[in-house]
Amino acid sequence: MDEMFNLRAYIDTVPDFPKPGIMFRDDARLLESPRIRTYAFNLMRGHLDEAGVDKIAAIDSRGFIYGTGAGNGLPIVKVRKAGKLPVPPHDPIVHRSEDGRLVVTERLVTVYYGLEYGRDALQIHRGRIQKGEKVGVVDDVAATGGTAEAAARAIEYEGGVVACYTFLIELPGARANDGMNARERLMEHHGGMDLVKSLLQF
Ligand code: AMP
Repeated sequence: MDEMFNLRAYIDTVPDFPKPGIMFRDDARLLESPRIRTYAFNLMRGHLDEAGVDKIAAIDSRGFIYGTGAGNGLPIVKVRKAGKLPVPPHDPIVHRSEDGRLVVTERLVTVYYGLEYGRDALQIHRGRIQKGEKVGVVDDVAATGGTAEAAARAIEYEGGVVACYTFLIELPGARANDGMNARERLMEHHGGMDLVKSLLQF
């Protein structure tokens, strides 16, 4: 068997960052060590391979590190914070969901989420995910799961099928105003199927 490492020992906790009450889990020492980082990437890759994903959706911004590390050899699509993906100045709206949470233009799918702390939005470029493609969503931390669910909505609009979520860290105690944590939210999104994998829980 390959060498095993205690990944938990490489995560530092910073209390009350970025605001009071949040215990920020910092992966800086894990990333600094090539051996530990690669170990984590390989475990996440195991999740993606088990689910048989065709493509990685890496979430802005620390998800880019884990998505690239775990997704070596697989196609990667960027899921970016709103306003970062390049589009021509004229990009007309072609669809808006009734609740306004999904806005589609000719070039972008935008999903608004996290209403409890004001509105945040994620975007993907249209045409980067093909109908029926099995997608693995990768991020560093799953807290309330709002970010990952927003990514899923964008992927699914394009016809992709989320086959797996893999996170370095899952925070089961982090609940949004609706009372749900990430795993519960993502299970509900997928009709009760649990597609969530994580290497560490805090
Ligand atoms: P959420 O949408 O609530 O699941 O939040 C997920 C995003 O917020 C992730 O991309 C993380 O980068 C970040 N995040 C949330 N809570 C924490 C935390 N306690 N420590 C570090 N990052 C966090």
